[in-house]
Amino acid sequence: MYDVVVVGGGAVGLYLARKFAEKNSSVLLLEKKEKIGQKPCSGLVSSKIFEFINKGEDDFIENEFLKARIWLEGNFFDFNGKALLLNREKLDKYFFEKAKKAGVDIRLKKEVRKIEEKEAWVEILLESGEKIQGKIIAGCDGAVSTVAQNLNLPKQEKLLLGLIGYQFKNCQEDFKNNFPELFFSKNFPGFFAWRIPRTRNIEWGTALPPQQKPGEKLRKFLKEKKIEIEKIESALIPIFPRKRIVTKRCFLCGDAAGQIKPATGGGLIYGLLAAKMASIFIDPAKPQTFLYEKQWTKNLQREIFWGGLLRKSYHLPTFLKKIGLLWLKNKKNLDQDRPSTMFTP
Ligand SMILES: Cc1cc2nc3c(=O)[nH]c(=O)nc-3n(C[C@H](O)[C@H](O)[C@H](O)COP(=O)(O)OP(=O)(O)OC[C@H]3O[C@@H](n4cnc5c(N)ncnc54)[C@H](O)[C@@H]3O)c2cc1C
Repeated sequence: MYDVVVVGGGAVGLYLARKFAEKNSSVLLLEKKEKIGQKPCSGLVSSKIFEFINKGEDDFIENEFLKARIWLEGNFFDFNGKALLLNREKLDKYFFEKAKKAGVDIRLKKEVRKIEEKEAWVEILLESGEKIQGKIIAGCDGAVSTVAQNLNLPKQEKLLLGLIGYQFKNCQEDFKNNFPELFFSKNFPGFFAWRIPRTRNIEWGTALPPQQKPGEKLRKFLKEKKIEIEKIESALIPIFPRKRIVTKRCFLCGDAAGQIKPATGGGLIYGLLAAKMASIFIDPAKPQTFLYEKQWTKNLQREIFWGGLLRKSYHLPTFLKKIGLLWLKNKKNLDQDRPSTMFTP
């Protein structure tokens, strides 16, 4: 019987597992893939990431940006502000090493199929037929969470298909623009396409509901720019939180919970923040999971609400978006993780 069983070895699951292990809980982490670190993800984050990683051990930072450029059809608006570009594969490996060092029992190629919550423990059935017991279970198993499905937690209301591809040819000239760019246009209704200069290539991406065929739209957009991309990867992005994310002995964190910035689809910072709260407020011996739900709601739901509103504004006509951007440009102290700062003086 483990104190804590974490399902999913992405950045959030690995970080959460380590936090519990550091509190002397016995922790088992189950990951269905053979290897850690295979998530298609740009890895663009704010400096808040330093709450979760140590300075000096951060060789996975690929680039540092001081501004971003937002394109509205043919016009652009520059916004100052610092952002860091992480190599996502290396970030997950960093969290993996930290979790292992803290004593987490990490098992790869272990897919969780069923979960049954009993009065005093939770039983987990793996694809291999093995059974495991834990006092509490954390579902950090991504947007299409098996843990959430098994516990009959509410469904994710909206999923986008995020897509990234890499430009390897003719990048030299492009590297001079060392900042991320966001392209709002009719091609990407309700979202945008992006361009991010990485160490050896330029990343291009977008995220749209799967039925809107984001791949076709991105290729058409790049064809017009005469840009070729290779190695296209995709994954689902939940855009709003589930209405409930805890049961008596189980809880969700990260993409499984929908802890994402709705305006950009960025989930690393919110997921890690929520994992930190879970490790503080949930005691495996006396699991008051509602305390975690209360805390994360208090800290992040308001920002998700404002982020959702900002995303809705992407549907506005171009001239209104232009007015909005001009208004935002004059705002001081904008915090990319806290859209509520748009309305603070
Ligand atoms: C194209 C794209 C670009 C993005 N760019 C950014 C960005 O720039 N900045 C940012 O902050 N966020 C970005 N995101 C979002 C970010 O990737 C996620 O928010 C983040 O990965 C969430 O981490 P997680 O650990 O919750 O989930 P995941 O990273 O999805 O990890 C879930 C893990 O659970 C495992 N798993 C699933 N089911 C089971 C099971 N049944 N049993 C065992 N294991 C299981 C999976 O194999 C996986 O390893 C992007 C996403 C996409 C798709």
